[in-house]
Amino acid sequence: MFENLQDKLDRAFKVLKGQGSITEINVAETMKEIRKALLDADVNYKTAKAFTDDVKEKALGLNVLTSISPGQLLTKLMNDELAVLMGGTVEELNISANPTIILIAGLNGAGKTTFSGKLANYLLTKKNKKPLLVAGDVYRPAAIDQLEVLGGQIGVPVYTDRTSKDPVAIAMAGIAEAKKNGQNVVIIDTAGRLAIDEGLMKEIAEVKAQTKPHEILFVVDSMTGQDAVNTAKAFNDRLDFSGVVLTKLDGDTRGGAALSIKSVVNKPIKFIGTGEKMEALDVFYPDRMASRILG
Ligand code: GDP
Repeated sequence: MFENLQDKLDRAFKVLKGQGSITEINVAETMKEIRKALLDADVNYKTAKAFTDDVKEKALGLNVLTSISPGQLLTKLMNDELAVLMGGTVEELNISANPTIILIAGLNGAGKTTFSGKLANYLLTKKNKKPLLVAGDVYRPAAIDQLEVLGGQIGVPVYTDRTSKDPVAIAMAGIAEAKKNGQNVVIIDTAGRLAIDEGLMKEIAEVKAQTKPHEILFVVDSMTGQDAVNTAKAFNDRLDFSGVVLTKLDGDTRGGAALSIKSVVNKPIKFIGTGEKMEALDVFYPDRMASRILG
């Protein structure tokens, strides 16, 4: 479906070429195809329908020049519209406070710990910051080990307390440690669960209430499709997070989750994970993701 979308559009609009405008009859069939394609890319139905209805309206009456094919014109229109729906511009992190507190939330396996390391590396190497990582997953000793290994790789200190089972106390002690040592960003990795769970939500809401983070980044696996949207909604209802991190976009997913999540929770996507290495992190560019979704 996604192969040669533009060719398909060109074919659908062949009759139109040189006729001056895109007509209702032609555009309706094509929009049906586009909607199917978006559903294949994991965009949820409501979002896909709203998008195609909107594009259809804008496409009608567009002047089709002889030098540019209707397919090209429509592809450009869709690209621009999708980018706008995903926020339009790059959303910067709010890192002016000293120290800036950043809370990382999400389900187990989403990529929280990996992202915490990547973010620390990004802030250190690209933003000239002095970050401290805080190991707040009190249930999985392996997660603490993992963060220490990552911190060692990138040269960022990691605050741990293996004797404590209290994530709020660990987070507060981490912040105090950062203040003492002049570290100006504190990244708090938190525990996850396999599924959304009341105990987990209560715990992370408590960490939020006590640490008063400047950024709460919700990390979600882009390969989980429709589930990603449901998880985002549940976390946002509870945490009112400030941004989304979509991981595992190096896989073969089209990334439609970006569009669905943005339209359902209306929070900016700030970063994408593109691999397991510490450098595999990109700022989220809506226009690039639009091209990826449209194929
Ligand atoms: P957590 O349970 O949320 O802390 O998840 P982890 O950070 O432990 O990540 C779970 C798995 O996903 C690990 O094997 C990571 O190496 C892997 N992972 C995390 N982010 C990415 C990514 O962007 N791309 C790929 N391919 N793997 C990732």
